[in-house]
Amino acid sequence: MDLSIVIPLKDEEESLPELCAWIEKVMQANNFSYEVILMDDGSTDSSWEVIEKLHAKNPLIKGIKFQRNYGKSAALNEGFKVVQGDVIITMDADLQDSPDEIPSLFQMIKNDGYDLVSGWKKKRYDNVLTKNIPSKFFNAVTRKMSGIKLHDFNCGLKAYRRKVVQSIEVYGEMHRYIPVLAKWAGFRKIGEKVVEHRPRKYGTTKFGWERFVNGFLDLTTIMFIGKFGKKPMQFFGLWGSLFFLLGFIMSIYLVISKFVDHEFALTNRPAFYLAMVVMLIGTQLFLAGFLGEMIARNAPERNSYLVEDKIGLEK
Ligand code: UDP
Ligand code: MG
Repeated sequence: MDLSIVIPLKDEEESLPELCAWIEKVMQANNFSYEVILMDDGSTDSSWEVIEKLHAKNPLIKGIKFQRNYGKSAALNEGFKVVQGDVIITMDADLQDSPDEIPSLFQMIKNDGYDLVSGWKKKRYDNVLTKNIPSKFFNAVTRKMSGIKLHDFNCGLKAYRRKVVQSIEVYGEMHRYIPVLAKWAGFRKIGEKVVEHRPRKYGTTKFGWERFVNGFLDLTTIMFIGKFGKKPMQFFGLWGSLFFLLGFIMSIYLVISKFVDHEFALTNRPAFYLAMVVMLIGTQLFLAGFLGEMIARNAPERNSYLVEDKIGLEK
């Protein structure tokens, strides 16, 4: 199978028939073998009934319905588990992404060797104040922190080599950082393509400004886990030791000065309290690192590596 198109959706009943008809048209025109996986993320409208009807007409249109709303990341993650295509496309259900972009995204993965291609909504049809401007800032920070040169991390329209989606786990609000997750997993060829963006035709947006707060916390998590997730002691141990050492040196200084300067009431000196606090923080950090290390040691994935290729051995 050439293509699996994974579409997370919540309350998009009006868009679905139009979207699926458009996808079918593009697939037929390009002679792709494909499947569409509609991920109903706890819709409360009639989206699921619409999906059932679409499937009855074309069995290549498949669906998974969540018991409740789990979020876009969860929907993508669950969809990624069942894909059969060589190339996976993700796109939004609201007709803001155009299915006409699929063939060229497919070519970039199949022929140009990209592992992941992210859409770039260069000309964007969303609210300027709540979406476009915060988004610029968000993308700049993510670019800086991750070292990945993409303009638009959060574009719903993306293409992946199947191996990529099978090697990453998307949860929380991390659908915005899939390129970062892919990079940590060792996929180097990450590209972007300018894609057409369209105004929302039906329904309303599911994401407001608060997504940026959660988004940034998730970025911190990803960066931290990517760097120190398997060796927490290298972070906490280092800082813990430094803090403790600093407090310890201060204490020694205080004790010496007590005798030299005949300063008898150590507790009268602010530095005394500082030294205590710094040593305590140091111990706590060290302990956190130690506990982290114990957890990492027992984690089921402690020895799961991604093998890129093999020679002389069965693949
Ligand atoms: N979506 C989802 N679960 C959610 C929120 C959104 O599956 O909890 C879907 C939504 O139906 C749409 C896509 O994610 O297909 C992008 O959402 P939306 O268009 O509201 O975001 P925006 O384009 O405004 O950033
Ligand atoms: Mg949208």
